[in-house]
Amino acid sequence: MFRDGDVVPMDASVVRKVLEPHAPYDVSDDEPVEWVRAADGSDAEVYTGHGVYLDRPGPGVLDIIAELASRTGAAIPLLSEPTAIVTGEEGLRHLSEDLRAGAVVVPPALLTGQAIAQVLRPRPEPRQRPMLPPFPYHPDLMTTGSIVAADETCACCGHDQGWIYTGPVHGEDVPEGRLCPYCIAYGTAAKRHGAFFNEVEARRMPEEAAALIRERTPGFATWQDWGWPAHCGDGAEFLGVVGAKELAPHPDPLDHLRLRCAEWGWESGATEEFLAALNKDGQPTAYLFRCRACGTRLAEADFT
Ligand SMILES: [Zn+2]
Ligand SMILES: [Zn+2]
Repeated sequence: MFRDGDVVPMDASVVRKVLEPHAPYDVSDDEPVEWVRAADGSDAEVYTGHGVYLDRPGPGVLDIIAELASRTGAAIPLLSEPTAIVTGEEGLRHLSEDLRAGAVVVPPALLTGQAIAQVLRPRPEPRQRPMLPPFPYHPDLMTTGSIVAADETCACCGHDQGWIYTGPVHGEDVPEGRLCPYCIAYGTAAKRHGAFFNEVEARRMPEEAAALIRERTPGFATWQDWGWPAHCGDGAEFLGVVGAKELAPHPDPLDHLRLRCAEWGWESGATEEFLAALNKDGQPTAYLFRCRACGTRLAEADFT
């Protein structure tokens, strides 16, 4: 304990009153408490001199230290920055000069073991985010960027779920603000607000698959309305936005695009020029898909 910058003895009777209930053995009246065990099973050896030193305190022992400091007004010197915890301005004044500048004040009512732990380790733990719901038609949301980690309230459910959808939301009655992936996956946004996320042409795939892609699958920014491709009687899964460079190793989707251009009545020269100009970050651009049944890769082109 500090008094005018010097270390002075603590009130031994208060120290004893705090420590004795935590001693896991019978303490005789003429002996100081030499060992404490906290409620969580962590323990520490106690050395009593001018101050009380608890050697290698576990999380539960920090609570005992907090109680000691709250009841005696003693400072808790730390071996790092911040240099000490005191329970008030007066405690700060009595600290030795070398400790004073780097000390923090935590009032007795707030001084707990957890508070001490937070002062010792002020950086917040990285947030644990819940598992994303499965999206069978848009499986790799981290790569496509349609869902990102965010501390943001969902405009549909009103909760901060740790993730937010960055893509387009269509519909006449959609709320302002972004949506969480759970409100998309569970169909809440579709049911409540008539929201939909992708254009799907009827007749290309079973109605059940079309509804899942339209109303419960995260979309991505596109240039124009276009149709989600199908293969083997099911909607394909979206892999990402690609350009000529990304498509080069995939002859199948390139042939698929040539077929499309032929449908539009394009000459082969114009088609090859168009395919070479495909750009991941601009337009014309292409979307890469894979058949969920046979694995065939497909591409759709998009431009204004
Ligand atoms: Zn939500
Ligand atoms: Zn297929």
